[in-house]
Amino acid sequence: MNDDYRIRKTDAEWKALLAEKGAEPGAFQVTRHAATERPFSGKYERVWADGSYHCICCGAKLFDSDTKFDAGCGWPSFSQAIPGAIKEIRDTSHGMIRVETVCAECGAHLGHVFPDGPEPTGLRYCMNSASLDFHPEGKA
Ligand SMILES: [Zn+2]
Repeated sequence: MNDDYRIRKTDAEWKALLAEKGAEPGAFQVTRHAATERPFSGKYERVWADGSYHCICCGAKLFDSDTKFDAGCGWPSFSQAIPGAIKEIRDTSHGMIRVETVCAECGAHLGHVFPDGPEPTGLRYCMNSASLDFHPEGKA
């Protein structure tokens, strides 16, 4: 599946890059092997500061902080993604039909999107905190 993405690296290269960025310990398993972090464990679950959320792997901007909302599910949740930033893939693992979300640039697994979010989009992007890198407002 790696061939679909503009940014491609080996597992060893991703591991090194994530370590360099100080990513959460589970970041490699989450982003490159579609693991799910434990709910209420991620560092961004309770962050409400102004800024933007980027892919921990390649830095692509994924969400603005004003679309983040408290879904009470234990993972950072957003009602809207930056247009074109996220690719959706039908996921039938674990006996469920879900829509997986990955970074459109590098294919990093981010989480899933569900049709039970707030208006106006009605969407809930349920993200792994470990997949995200928060940039406070006003900083690049
Ligand atoms: Zn990415």
